[in-house]
Amino acid sequence: MSATTQGKAPFDIFVIGGGINGTGIARDAVGRGFSVMLAEKEDLASGTSSAATKLVHGGLRYLEHYEFRLVAESLAEREVLWRAAPHIIWPLRFVLPHHKGLRPAFVLRSGLFLYDHLGGRNLLPPTKTLDLRKDAAGGPLKEEFKLGFEYSDCWVMDARLVALTAKDAAERGAEIRTRTKVVSARREGGSWQIVLEAAGSGERETVSAKVLVNAAGPWVDAVIVDALGRNGAHNVRLVKGSHIVVRRLYDHDRCYIFQNADNRIIFAIPYEGEFTLIGTTDQDYAGDPGAVAISPEEQDYLCGAASEYFKHPVRREDIVWSYSGVRPLFDDGASAAQEATRDYVIKLEGDAMNGALVNVFGGKLTTFRRLAESVMEKIEDVTGKRGGAWTRDAKLPGGEFEPTAFEAEVAKLRRDYPGLPAPLLRRLTRFYGTRARRLLGQAQALGELGDHFGADLYAREVDYLVAEEWARTADDVLWRRSKLGLRVSAEDQARLADYLAAKA
Ligand code: FAD
Repeated sequence: MSATTQGKAPFDIFVIGGGINGTGIARDAVGRGFSVMLAEKEDLASGTSSAATKLVHGGLRYLEHYEFRLVAESLAEREVLWRAAPHIIWPLRFVLPHHKGLRPAFVLRSGLFLYDHLGGRNLLPPTKTLDLRKDAAGGPLKEEFKLGFEYSDCWVMDARLVALTAKDAAERGAEIRTRTKVVSARREGGSWQIVLEAAGSGERETVSAKVLVNAAGPWVDAVIVDALGRNGAHNVRLVKGSHIVVRRLYDHDRCYIFQNADNRIIFAIPYEGEFTLIGTTDQDYAGDPGAVAISPEEQDYLCGAASEYFKHPVRREDIVWSYSGVRPLFDDGASAAQEATRDYVIKLEGDAMNGALVNVFGGKLTTFRRLAESVMEKIEDVTGKRGGAWTRDAKLPGGEFEPTAFEAEVAKLRRDYPGLPAPLLRRLTRFYGTRARRLLGQAQALGELGDHFGADLYAREVDYLVAEEWARTADDVLWRRSKLGLRVSAEDQARLADYLAAKA
C-alpha cells in the first residue's frame, strides 16, 4: 500500500537518521521554528550511537594528532552537556599510569596541562599527579606502575542521550518516525519528494521537504547512492571499534586510560555497578555497518592490553558481553585507522529554491550539539529564515536540576516514595531525572509497578518507555533505553518480548 502527503505543506527540514547527530539536528531545528520530520530505519540509536565508549571528552589522544579545534570544542562541551542532562551525564576521573617504555612523563604532563587549560572547565576538578604506590588507584595495577596522572572527563549513557534528544525534539513539535526507512529522495520543483517505508508492513508513504539532511552515520554514503540515486560516493572511512565487558575488576570509581605499545590507548571503566568496560579497537571495516561484531583477535587484543597493566590478567573467558560499532569518520586520507580525523565535516549542496541537501560526515557524541548548530547555520544561510542558536543553556527532558545536585534529586525521590527500594529510586533518577515521578505516578509499593521482568525492571517502566521513548522490542528496552540486559535472564527477556508483542 502506498500513501502520499502531496497537498500537505512540505516540512522545512527532513532528517535521515535517528542517531545522536540526526536527533540533535532535528531538536535544534524545531527549536528555531522550522517544521521538522525525522526518519530512523530501526530503533533510535540502533547504529553507532549505542556502541560508543560513552565518554563526553576532549579526547586527550587527539592532541597528538594536532586536532586542537576539535579538542577545544569538545572540552567546552563537557560541562555544557553535563548541565543539560545531569541525570544521564556525570563526571569521571581518569587515571593515566606512566609506562616507562612509552610516552615520557613530561609529554603526559604537557598534554594534560593543555587539556586543563584549553577552556570550558569550571566545575570539573583539574589534573593531579598520583603516587600509585600509595593511592588506591595503584592497588589493582602491577607494581612497576609507580607514577600516574589523574584528570577529568564525563560519562554519558549514549543511547539514552539519543532518546532524550529525540524526545525533546518531539515535545517541541518535530515528527519522529522510528522503524521507517528512507528508500528514495528526489528533487522535484524546488523541494524533496521523500519515499518512506515502514519496517514490518512495508507500507510506503511520500512526504515532501524543502531541505534534506543526511545524518545516516555509517550509512551516509549508502543513502547518497541508494536513496539519492547517485553513481557512487566515498566520503567516510568506516572504522570498527569493539568493547568487552567483564565482571568488576576493581573497587574504586575511577577509570583507567592505558597506553599501548602500538601507540593506541584503551580505557577500563566501571560499568553498570558490577562490571568493567574495556575498549576500544580501531579497524578499517568494509561490511554492512548493521552486521558489525567483535572478532576473536579484537577480544585477545583488549584482554592483552588490559593485562599489561592489571595484576590479575583479563582472559577471553572472563568476557560476559561485548559490543561493536562503526565510526563514520570523514575520509581525510590518513594511513592508519586510529589517525583518521575524529572531527566532523558538513557539506551543503543546492539552495532554498532548488531543494538544499546537507550531508553530515563524522562527528562524536560529545560534539553533537555543536555539529547541529553548524548544520543549522548553513540551513539558515540558504533559507534566509533565522531562529538563532538556543541549545547551549537548554535542558534535556528530566535534566531540570543543577549538575552537582544529583544526590539531592535522589533524596527527594526517596522522600516522596518511601515504600519503594532505594536502589530502584537511584536508578530511576539516573535514567529519567525529574521525570521519574511521571513514570512512578501514584505507585508507593513494588506491587503497584506491575509485572516483574527480572533485575529491577517492572511493567510500569516498560510502559513508560513504550509511551514516551519509542521502545517497541525487548532489545530496545534492555540494550538501548537501558543496559538491564546484563542482569535480566534469558527467560525474563523472552517474557518481556511477549509482553511487548502483546502491546503492539
Ligand atoms: P548513527 O548513530 O549510526 O546514526 C545513524 C542512523 O541512521 C542509524 O541509526 C541508522 O539506522 C539510520 N539510517 C541509516 N540509513 C537510513 C535510512 N535510509 N533511513 C532511515 N534511517 C537510516 N564519541 C564520543 O563522543 N565519545 C566516545 O567515547 C565515543 N566512543 C566511540 C567508540 C566507538 C567504538 C565508536 C564506534 C564510536 C565512538 N564515538 C564516541 C563516536 C560516536 O559514537 C559517533 O560519532 C556517533 O554515535 C555517530 O552518530 P550518528 O548519528 O552520526 O550515526
